[in-house]
Amino acid sequence: MPTGLQSPLVFPASLQAAGTASLYVHIPFCTKKCVYCDFYSVEGAGFKAMKRVLDSLLGSFDQALEQGSPKRFSSVFLGGGTPSAIPAKLMDDFLHSLLVRVGPVEEWSMEVNPESLNEEFLSMLSSSPVNRISMGAQSYDETLLSWLGRPSGRRILEHADALLASLWDGRLSRDLLASLPHQKKNGWLEDLDHALAGDPGHLSLYELTIEDDTPLAQDEVRLQSLPTEDEAWERWQESLEFLKNRGYQRYEVSNFARPGQECQHNLGYWALNPYLGLGPGAASTLPNEEGHPVRLEGERDWSRWVQNPWTHCTSTKIPPFAFALEILMMGMRCVQGVARKPFQNLFHQDVVDLLPQSLNKWATADALTVTEETLIPTESGLELVDAMLADMAMELEKKSLCWNGPWKHSSLS
Ligand code: SF4
Repeated sequence: MPTGLQSPLVFPASLQAAGTASLYVHIPFCTKKCVYCDFYSVEGAGFKAMKRVLDSLLGSFDQALEQGSPKRFSSVFLGGGTPSAIPAKLMDDFLHSLLVRVGPVEEWSMEVNPESLNEEFLSMLSSSPVNRISMGAQSYDETLLSWLGRPSGRRILEHADALLASLWDGRLSRDLLASLPHQKKNGWLEDLDHALAGDPGHLSLYELTIEDDTPLAQDEVRLQSLPTEDEAWERWQESLEFLKNRGYQRYEVSNFARPGQECQHNLGYWALNPYLGLGPGAASTLPNEEGHPVRLEGERDWSRWVQNPWTHCTSTKIPPFAFALEILMMGMRCVQGVARKPFQNLFHQDVVDLLPQSLNKWATADALTVTEETLIPTESGLELVDAMLADMAMELEKKSLCWNGPWKHSSLS
């Protein structure tokens, strides 16, 4: 199998005990950069650059596998960037090469964008291992698509939706943005209504965040048209009600699904299962030989990354305090919450004994339910996650934590 890599493998040698992990593959290309986006991706790349990156993705995967880390995969997610920006034949070859390496995996998700989703690409996907598509719609309002600097307008978006309706019979999710300026009364509900056309099993509704170093963050004029906090809150509440009435259950702060249609890959991520990330800018979190988590982050420059993907990645041992905080941050955003026993197995301390003040405060405010087994955010608590986590972080900082048991796949569920 050609890998495209010039130099011998340099995968961090300490990571040899992952067992099972999920796999994330980062495709760092987009048709055009959106003004709000801070993901690593570049626009305008040609066939040669794409082929080099795909070859190096396979090569870097081989390097990881040769080091025995990880051994099995629970899910595959191809994101970016825009995976559908890759020509269909090139992506077809890549997916089949990936399948040979990954083996049978129940869920293969791929992010696609309307401007690059054509009949050829979708037909190719239908005979590939991909069985779940996540379509980046963001809005169905022509003015807002332009405000966001999206590469496609409404006509192209509707064409892509029509293609999905006629050619795709796998699982489907759509991404929408909330907290956008809205010229039309109830425009955000119209967006939701459009996004639920064809009855997708899943919807992600993300609040627009203004990330530093994006064109949007520097654009005073655009920023002035954003809704106030109160307006955004009111619209968000209406959106939640709308989705509930349409039968979508909220299973994470920003994610809604029909029963059984939850994204398994994201569930694993929020449950702090190990994951291997391939690609420039992709992160991995894997256990080292002591069973402690280590985070690797790939270089955010594809042309340097392809020369030897693992050589320049940063590798950081995550200390117990930081990992405990991540468990709380992920768990409190999900309806399944934080499981107490696994937390105790990992740190030798019950989270309830560690955080008596914050848990008491937020349980009294009806934002949190503490049971024998779990800490679970209530429906209203899902709206207060940031405030709850700020309190928990402050209280946790004053405690000393050390590792007890090993961390591995499913050890926190
Ligand atoms: S298409 Fe997606 S990844 Fe690409 S620039 Fe826009 S938001 Fe970012």
